[in-house]
Amino acid sequence: MLEILKPKVYINSICSLDLKKLKKLQEIKGIIVDLDNTLVAWGENDVSAEVIDWVKEAKKLGLKLCIVSNTSSKRVAKFAEILDIPYYSQHLKPFSKSYIRGLKILNTKREETVVIGDQIFTDILGGNRLGFFTILVAPIIKRDSLGTFPQRTIEKIILSFWQKRGILKKEVDDWPAD
Ligand SMILES: [Mg+2]
Repeated sequence: MLEILKPKVYINSICSLDLKKLKKLQEIKGIIVDLDNTLVAWGENDVSAEVIDWVKEAKKLGLKLCIVSNTSSKRVAKFAEILDIPYYSQHLKPFSKSYIRGLKILNTKREETVVIGDQIFTDILGGNRLGFFTILVAPIIKRDSLGTFPQRTIEKIILSFWQKRGILKKEVDDWPAD
């Protein structure tokens, strides 16, 4: 049962995802990425220079990006404009429709697309169910919307269970490694 919640990889932050190396590891063309606590801190109005550079690097490598978020459309639209990438926020993750729409926007195949997010009950569950390569990032800040509190609590228990048993390792350095 827990397998459907397990990301393929667990990394510290989106910026520690080495896209050049990931591209060598497997044929990826697109990225469906979450907004809050993945690209920007929850409640923050600015995006860090580091994330801006990461997005630039992705584009330089020819990767297509699409923000798929459960946050209000107004907020998502603002960051999508800053980063100059498309977005979709009308159906809620983990429902399949949101990923399928994201995929349509990217115009990539599932097997060429990775899903990145900071929550296992939305980003990872939905991504795994559709067979995407899923990457969990540690949330940028611990604060989050109140609605996510129950999931966050269970998430911590599951993550610690996996890590203690060596089922999932949190990559401390950039990933993929050499
Ligand atoms: Mg998030």
